[in-house]
Amino acid sequence: MWNRVEHTAREVFGTFGFGEIRPPIFEPTELFARAVGGETDIVSKEMYSFEDRPADLPANVAGAFGPDYARQLFSGHEKGEIPNSLSNRIALKEIRQRLEEIDTEYPKMRLGSADASAEAIEKYNSLLQRLAYLISRVSLGELVSLRPEATASVCRAYIEHNMHAWPQPVKLYYTGPMFRRERPQKGRYRQFYQIGAEVLETVQQGQGGAKDIPKDAAVDAEVIEMVMAFFGRLELQGVQLEINSIGHNSPDCRRGYVEKLKAALVEVKDKLGEDSRRRIETNPLRVLDSKLEHEQAIIATLPRIGDHLCDDCKSHYAELKRQLDLRGVKCHENWRLVRGLDYYMRTTFEITAQGLGSQNAVCGGGRYDGLVELLGGPPTKGIGFAIGEDRLILSLQEARKEVASGEGRVASGKIGRDVYIAWMGKTSEETAIRAAQKLRTAGLRVELPPVEQKFGKALGQADKLGSRYALILGDDEVASGQWTLKTLADGSQKKMGEAELVEFLKGARALSG
Ligand code: AMP
Repeated sequence: MWNRVEHTAREVFGTFGFGEIRPPIFEPTELFARAVGGETDIVSKEMYSFEDRPADLPANVAGAFGPDYARQLFSGHEKGEIPNSLSNRIALKEIRQRLEEIDTEYPKMRLGSADASAEAIEKYNSLLQRLAYLISRVSLGELVSLRPEATASVCRAYIEHNMHAWPQPVKLYYTGPMFRRERPQKGRYRQFYQIGAEVLETVQQGQGGAKDIPKDAAVDAEVIEMVMAFFGRLELQGVQLEINSIGHNSPDCRRGYVEKLKAALVEVKDKLGEDSRRRIETNPLRVLDSKLEHEQAIIATLPRIGDHLCDDCKSHYAELKRQLDLRGVKCHENWRLVRGLDYYMRTTFEITAQGLGSQNAVCGGGRYDGLVELLGGPPTKGIGFAIGEDRLILSLQEARKEVASGEGRVASGKIGRDVYIAWMGKTSEETAIRAAQKLRTAGLRVELPPVEQKFGKALGQADKLGSRYALILGDDEVASGQWTLKTLADGSQKKMGEAELVEFLKGARALSG
């Protein structure tokens, strides 16, 4: 199923002109801090981060601390392998002093001398402790993180590889694992998989502005149409698309709205839960995300962004809806669908599917025109989405279970075989191996038992593996060159020569797809 989903994504995205990008699994933490936002839960709580270090320096773990390790730090620093930051210089300076103390005052102890006084040993130990502490303060290298999402990496790659010089827009998709330290539950994992896509387009001189609105809205609509086509091809059930416009980061648009929202939230502060109360100051838009039962009626009375969009954002949103309609994409408007970061703008969308309980979002996406520039690139428009592949597959499996139980059986998920080769007798071993090679070359799924089996056992095994045919090769078949093919569904048998049999099975495989 994972293969089918990924294969279908490649196929469908390919028909929309998207090419694959494979960003790395880890990147400098700073990239995510900037792109995803240092204040977000993802960056502040959920990232798996660690300090990189020079290749020849052992990991900074307990036991490695000590004078010899400290000396390696100096050479790493001199060679420029360890960051020359102020805090490192301060720590290294004191380390040098302590090392000198050890070298001048306690040289014998370092060699394990036994005649030291108790007082001297204690002093020496506390010196070593201080040294260990100082060593732990030295930052060995860049802080890197397992990626919690891939948009930041795609934008980084766009800049690093000068993709603004490619024919525009650049359309890329990716698949792969993402990592977030979350409380695991059904549909929420610490290593999960996303399939995502981004459309990036650098704004050429003299372009951009209000006249781009129809084009931008059409690009957004096509991206959404592509996800919906993908889900349609997979026959995902209960698909619901919600859209919203979150305007853009300006006083006459979103910023003005956020001020009004904040004022309204302050009015109802006492009726809100602790999280929402905190968010009034940190990120008022996120209050709209709240799932708390008792907050729903209050949120319904709050000002809505749709009433506060600037003219350009309003016409972009209207055009998006017209474009979706033209493409036959059905959607619901949800004014509470928001994104917490400044560079997100205008289009936001989310897609839910059935069979997932409370974690029912399978896809989230939106426009992020400011991101590439924020990361040091040229002014570039962006729109993209990320699909939660685990959830997508969960939903597909749930739907399959329903169909299967309706038919009185539960799908087992076994990998079927086209042909099981039931060979017996010494003379048939070589023929069986050759037959397997021929049939596999022809693209058939073949099971060749490693040792000969009794006829009944072979057929039982063929049945268990879900084979369509059993090719029976005994001494008679080898001698006559007429092989026996048994159709397992009805038990019928026929005899055929080798070439005829290969052709027959190839035809049967093509018919069954
Ligand atoms: P996001 O990158 O947070 O916008 O998430 C996009 C999609 O990824 C969501 O709609 C989910 O389907 C999926 N997703 C996000 N976090 C997780 C997780 N921890 N486990 C499984 N799927 C996730």
